[in-house]
Amino acid sequence: MTPPRITFLGGVREIGGNKLLIEDGPDRVLFDFGPSFSPRYDEFFVNYLAPRMSVSPVKDLLEFGLIPRVPGLFSREALTHSDLPHQAPDVHAVFVSHAHIDHAGYLPLIDPEIPVHVNEGTRTLLQAIEGSRGTKYGEHPWKILADRKPVKVGNLEIVPHPVDHSVPWASGFLIHTREGTIAYTGDYRAHGPRQKLTRDFVAASGEAEPAALVIEGTRAGPDPRKNFDEAGVRAGVDEVLAAADGVALVSYYPRDVDRILTMYEAARAAGRTFVVSLKTAHLLTRIHDLWPGGHLPRPGTTPDLLVYRRPKLRFDNWEKPFLDAAVDSEYVRAHGRELLLSLDLVHFAELIDLRPPAGTPFIHSMSEPFSEDDLDDRVLHNWLDHFDLRFHQLHASGHCSEAELRSTVEAVGSATVFPVHTEHPEAFAKFGATSRPPELGEPYAIGTERRRGER
Ligand SMILES: [Zn+2]
Repeated sequence: MTPPRITFLGGVREIGGNKLLIEDGPDRVLFDFGPSFSPRYDEFFVNYLAPRMSVSPVKDLLEFGLIPRVPGLFSREALTHSDLPHQAPDVHAVFVSHAHIDHAGYLPLIDPEIPVHVNEGTRTLLQAIEGSRGTKYGEHPWKILADRKPVKVGNLEIVPHPVDHSVPWASGFLIHTREGTIAYTGDYRAHGPRQKLTRDFVAASGEAEPAALVIEGTRAGPDPRKNFDEAGVRAGVDEVLAAADGVALVSYYPRDVDRILTMYEAARAAGRTFVVSLKTAHLLTRIHDLWPGGHLPRPGTTPDLLVYRRPKLRFDNWEKPFLDAAVDSEYVRAHGRELLLSLDLVHFAELIDLRPPAGTPFIHSMSEPFSEDDLDDRVLHNWLDHFDLRFHQLHASGHCSEAELRSTVEAVGSATVFPVHTEHPEAFAKFGATSRPPELGEPYAIGTERRRGER
């Protein structure tokens, strides 16, 4: 019988794209399955040149080693034209830590017989994305996880723990094998509004005395980018809004609900109405009832919240419920001083109609670009310069700082630490001698090493 082992099929020396295969005897379970944000992907595909996802997705991605060659994982349909033959499922479950694309984006390729485990919040978010983007996550037996409630898959026992991240309902996992426990953080942070969840998960991981800690390290290594905590973002936005005498513009990640709340509350405090996109309106409506305490603004019922409609020839069904009460560029031009308007880079053409006065603040509440020659960043600044808008960088990261990573490693005290979801796994070496940057596709036995400090 195969002793318990873990194989890293993605997320190795790259940000995003974690794919952990955990095996114990005949039982094989996969954690997360999405595309990475790796330069390797960008070397072959850009927005105008994409894998043929509706025709031969696995074939096209395998060509450049962008997905792993795992027999018994992919659906018959996804394998069309590929040299990997379809076979009966040999992976028994997939667990998804959170609803970001780099963790869930390849679910549509998976055999429809393989159960996919997510919590209710993540399932709802994935459905909201399916509703508004035409993305399909595929037909699967969806299994709904409850926080801290164990799930058995053969010999493996998996316990999901809620953690804080820049999308709600993120999970870390404790995975108990016959030879020892693996703690897997998923993507997480220790400085966000739900930091207590992260603290509790780290404490539970330490108590489980895991043989291995699989930890994300997005911000490990050199990171010159400015980051605040959520309160720091709020303070910065308050300042910008107080100084603005016309409309204020803001851009944030579409499913960063904490940021949406921060912007809503900042707008209210400044006597402004927060104007969101149709997409955000759809998201808030879908998740409203699941949100703890129900304190989530909802279009149509919450004061000081409006929806912006871009001019379109045809609206999709999911957009229609919001159209009657929605405002347009003319409204924004007339009421600018009373508004904080969400505007994403992809919709910057609206600026041509909005005609914001010179000096209008644009709050970039997203990560600064990873590289200095970032094309999106150049285009964004060209537009800001053209309209003479004032740029403000105000962001709180969804990921742990290096100090937070170190404190997790120290608190968990695992014999082996596998850094994933990072371009700088070697940065973990300074946290102690237990760090072991994994190799792609290499299986690592679990439980063969003793806990630190033992002999
Ligand atoms: Zn990620």
